Amino acid sequence: MARYRGPVCRLCRRERTKLFLKGERCYSLKCPVSEAVTDRHSRAYPPGEHGRDRMRQGSEYLNQLREKQKARRIYGILEKQFRNLYEEASRESGITGENLLRMLEMRLDNVVFRAGWGASRAQARQFVRHGHVLVNGRRVTIPSYRVRKGDVVTLKESSRQMFVVRRNMDTLDRQRPPWLEAADAGFSVSVLNPPLREHIDEPVQEQLIVELYSK
Ligand code: SF4
Repeated sequence: MARYRGPVCRLCRRERTKLFLKGERCYSLKCPVSEAVTDRHSRAYPPGEHGRDRMRQGSEYLNQLREKQKARRIYGILEKQFRNLYEEASRESGITGENLLRMLEMRLDNVVFRAGWGASRAQARQFVRHGHVLVNGRRVTIPSYRVRKGDVVTLKESSRQMFVVRRNMDTLDRQRPPWLEAADAGFSVSVLNPPLREHIDEPVQEQLIVELYSK
């Protein structure tokens, strides 16, 4: 499946918020939109030659568009796949926006990220593509694979010694969400239940996305 391959910090700058797309760097002073960076070095304005001129007030449509783009970029999904997910979410019973976020959270690459094995969703996605991840004991190499209640996601035995995984697990200290239960010294997570809205801490106003797509 295709994915965005360009520079990612400019995506954060476009959304004027930290999307945490680069792992460790996002928590350091090297982040160009970090609040801790002094004004002189901060680049918390949209990218491009006229980026500074674009600090204007947004219209209703622009706010909806930006919210959709932000969600898409956080989860690393291209427009067509995101739109398809939205269509599926709108066909399910319940609140469409929450259905959409739940589907995004239950992607295999996101579960690997939430488990703390990958520093970013992009790295988690690479672990899946390279065959380091098992679901119920079987290798799954599709990042968009959607886990279900009761699934057990495991890091392959031979991959547990990878330096990058060890480092991530030791240094990131990421809190696992309550819908995932860790076992096997953190190298395995079980899906207890589909996540509820309050379990999803991403700064996305899903209602704006629904309003955009229902036009
Ligand atoms: Fe770059 Fe991470 Fe900062 Fe975003 S949060 S601008 S990806 S360093």
